[in-house]
Amino acid sequence: MLSQNDKDGLLKRYAHFKSALDERAGKQDLLVVSKNQSADHIAVLAEAGQRAFAENYWQEAEQKIQAQGHFPLQWHFIGRVQRNKAAKIAAHFDWVHSLDDDLIAQSLSRARVDNARPLNVCIQVNISHEDQKGGIEPDDLFGLADKVAVQPHLLLRGLMVIPSKAVLSNRAVFEDMHSLWVDLQQRHPSVDTLSMGMSADYLEALDAGATMVRIGRGIF
Ligand SMILES: *Cc1c(COP(=O)(O)O)cnc(C)c1O
Repeated sequence: MLSQNDKDGLLKRYAHFKSALDERAGKQDLLVVSKNQSADHIAVLAEAGQRAFAENYWQEAEQKIQAQGHFPLQWHFIGRVQRNKAAKIAAHFDWVHSLDDDLIAQSLSRARVDNARPLNVCIQVNISHEDQKGGIEPDDLFGLADKVAVQPHLLLRGLMVIPSKAVLSNRAVFEDMHSLWVDLQQRHPSVDTLSMGMSADYLEALDAGATMVRIGRGIF
């Protein structure tokens, strides 16, 4: 259980991010990244009206998703999708932001067959060409997007990026992502989501056209 003090602090920081988004016409979505946080933390924000939460690992998310079953929450998977977890992820999450592989796309779609709604997916782009990072190279994006778009149980919603931490400003990266996203929208009308911006750089991301920001440490 959280103390009243912890609860108040959490709600205050959450309100700060909510109002930062509301000031910008309120059209962008706030995704609360609840990795490393307890089910109690999630419940406090769910009671305050937050619906969209994100997790990086199926092993960690499983219990939390079950614990919040009485709230109509929307779960977003933002970690690397391991092949052997694809079925669980497809069955229990509403969104996957970190798709970067056609075989994983096929596994996710197959595992979603019994669900009335398709799984919403964003393709992760490795726009700063980092070796260690997940995400597809920009040159390969449209090829993968065309394959994802024909999967019967996936709905291609957009793009996601995790910029390099090594640079002072991610503005140029966010702007490049935005123009890639606009091009993708021309080919795939289902695309309406640009998932970029975290606690440290969400304002820059919003300036560049993000439609969804992913906030963890800033709130918790
Ligand atoms: C942890 C994480 C976030 C949240 O980052 P903060 O700096 O804690 O706001 C956003 N996106 C991804 C993919 C993450 O892994």
